[in-house]
Amino acid sequence: MPKIYLVDVTNRDGVQTARLGLSKLEKTLVNMYLNDMGVYQSEFGFPTTRHESNYLQANLELAEKGVINSLRLEGWIRATVGDVDEAFRLVPNLKHLNLSISTSNQMIEGKFQGRKDKKDIIADMTRAVDHAKELGAASIGVNSEDASRSDLDYLIEFGNAAKEHGAERFRYCDTLGYDNPFTIYDTAKRLAKEIGIGIEIHCHGDLGMAVANSIAGAAGAVDGGQDAFINTTVNGIGERAGNADLVAVILAITKSKGFADKYQLGGNVSLSKAWKIAKFAAYAFGIPIPINQPGVGANAFAHESGIHADGVLKDPENYELYGYEELGLGEPVLVETGRQICTGEYSGISGFRHVMSQLGGEEVTFANDDEARRVLELVRYANVESQHPLVEDELLFIAKYPDITTKLLTFNP
Ligand SMILES: [Zn+2]
Repeated sequence: MPKIYLVDVTNRDGVQTARLGLSKLEKTLVNMYLNDMGVYQSEFGFPTTRHESNYLQANLELAEKGVINSLRLEGWIRATVGDVDEAFRLVPNLKHLNLSISTSNQMIEGKFQGRKDKKDIIADMTRAVDHAKELGAASIGVNSEDASRSDLDYLIEFGNAAKEHGAERFRYCDTLGYDNPFTIYDTAKRLAKEIGIGIEIHCHGDLGMAVANSIAGAAGAVDGGQDAFINTTVNGIGERAGNADLVAVILAITKSKGFADKYQLGGNVSLSKAWKIAKFAAYAFGIPIPINQPGVGANAFAHESGIHADGVLKDPENYELYGYEELGLGEPVLVETGRQICTGEYSGISGFRHVMSQLGGEEVTFANDDEARRVLELVRYANVESQHPLVEDELLFIAKYPDITTKLLTFNP
């Protein structure tokens, strides 16, 4: 029985969103949390963008060291031979790639303005797939941008050409959030049947249906006989109205009426880090979690009205579909109201040693003052990039992996 896998695109679609961004250390922490949650793949960045090179290589090193041990790291580029060349020139240890090109008449005519037709699009894509294979790509997915406004027979032709040239997945991008659960189910089923490789479902929330469309599309792909790969982002952050929220997608697959009886998540996905990753992304992006966010919003488990409060006190299942503990909620949050020593870009060694000795989880000790000073220097640089105090997991990461951190923080414009 085919399964549904999660491909998180926070570090690509999330960070390319207007007004929003993450530091390279924050992107790395997102990958670490996704790995801990059992997410199948992270679209971890842009291999042709020069300021990403060291970050991408550093994360591939984390995978080589086994620190990121189950998450597949995949880079997103345009489906052109030039982009493939540039990606492997800048990030030689890259293994997994997604190659994207527009497939709708609207975009082919609107973007290329007569310079390319539908045949050229398929020719460009297959040349890019061939070249990525020549340069050593271990896996290749092809993305059909604006697939929901593309002709379905053309998508099938496009997907089959990709498969013949060695692509292992076809990404159906509902770039404008135009689909609804009924249309995307039928489309994904037909694509799965007629192309015969894994189908990725990439949805946006312009009509408020990103999560619903994602699971409907995944169901269609599975019913068509292929594995489905849902694209998510943490807190649904993404272009315009956003993408399918990671936590909500997991909840929808595992908790919605009868769904899990027919369709199962692949891998070892755990919700126990849901609160942690949502809270971290909100802090890092500087965008609070909406009060009504599924699972992790402040009101997700809050009850006030008489009938609801009475009911939930008698039995939580009266008004809750799932327990807060499952999402890693329930621990009290301590807020220091007295003296605080912060670490930032101008911190000194004494304050830094104090902060590192106060961390909750793991004890951090330094062999000598030189080592402590080296880590402090990295913390300062990380702060220059993020411009807000680093969280505990970031400080621990820097102390544990100073060489990787040095790479993350190195830019050569
Ligand atoms: Zn998108």
